[in-house]
Amino acid sequence: DTLISQIAAGEVVERPASVVKELLENALDAGATQIQIKLDGGGISRIALTDNGCGIAEEQLPLAVARHATSKIKTLEDLEAVASLGFRGEALAAIASVSQFTLTSRPASASHAGQITNLAGAWQIQPAAGAVGTTIQVQELYYNTPARRKFLKSEQTEYGHCRDVVERLALAHPQVSFMLMHNGKVTAHFNQAAATGSAAEPNAHEQIRAQRIRHVVGDELMPHMLPVAVQAHDLALTGYVVHPTAARARADLQFFYVNGRFVRDKVLTHAVRAAYQDVLHGDRQAAYVLHLSLDPRGVDVNVHPAKTEVRFRDSRSIHQFVFHALQQALGATKPQAPE
Ligand code: ADP
Ligand code: MG
Repeated sequence: DTLISQIAAGEVVERPASVVKELLENALDAGATQIQIKLDGGGISRIALTDNGCGIAEEQLPLAVARHATSKIKTLEDLEAVASLGFRGEALAAIASVSQFTLTSRPASASHAGQITNLAGAWQIQPAAGAVGTTIQVQELYYNTPARRKFLKSEQTEYGHCRDVVERLALAHPQVSFMLMHNGKVTAHFNQAAATGSAAEPNAHEQIRAQRIRHVVGDELMPHMLPVAVQAHDLALTGYVVHPTAARARADLQFFYVNGRFVRDKVLTHAVRAAYQDVLHGDRQAAYVLHLSLDPRGVDVNVHPAKTEVRFRDSRSIHQFVFHALQQALGATKPQAPE
């Protein structure tokens, strides 16, 4: 089974950033409101993620690290509508098969935490100290599969990918605080307490969202970000796009979410670029943070669990909607082309 998990790990765990993504998604699924990510050596030597979510009961620990033991897909409809971000219960088993792995967890109802560790391929469980929530520590990624370890890039590059993952999720989850540390220093802090007013206020999430966008795009670009809020039937596009005149050569400030999930998709990228070209008559890079929501049955997010691809049922109408919404937001003066 270790071998099968190691093969699965090849699919799921490409690099430290993939571990960070899986662990963060689990923490979010567990209802965490505070998440701390500590990385050492670009995440290669250590990833430690602590959340204040629901925790795992001690007797459930072996299940959590077993293959296909997900607690999240209960009906065919769940699979169809994949409301939860996690996929098919393989991530922890796969990660544990290629690292030195320790999971410490305590549900609110327990008087102490439980800890499960893989030592030389065998699992050991013991009681431990720990607050309510879960801490997962992943050390020496790929220590036992040197051929894979060789493919990792420099510490800084791997760290950069990890930070990207944290930014993507922080932009999508304003109700959650994220703190990222690298080699003992705080490198990013997406705090919700930093916003004025309580998070329970309807406006607070929007404020935090805008703050996080500022954090990611920078103070200089932020005043040039135009709000987008367009709705048609069951499609809605919200977020911010940079004003065409402030568009620049950088392509790394592009965040597109579909039903809360970060994606890279040709149809969407093309629609954005077409709208910019239409307004600008030039080919500059847009900076944007956009959220598209649609009926979950209109999009397949399970094309590949570890990737950011999606497949739309009707990609033509999605393209048209996004194109026209942005054209409108960017202040296009040209009349809309007939359909
Ligand atoms: P999946 O997320 O698809 O269910 P994983 O391998 O990622 O599969 O996780 C296995 C199980 O472990 C989850 O279904 C969940 O019950 C439990 N789990 C993992 N991480 C956490 C966490 N941070 N807090 C609470 N439960 C967790
Ligand atoms: Mg998961």
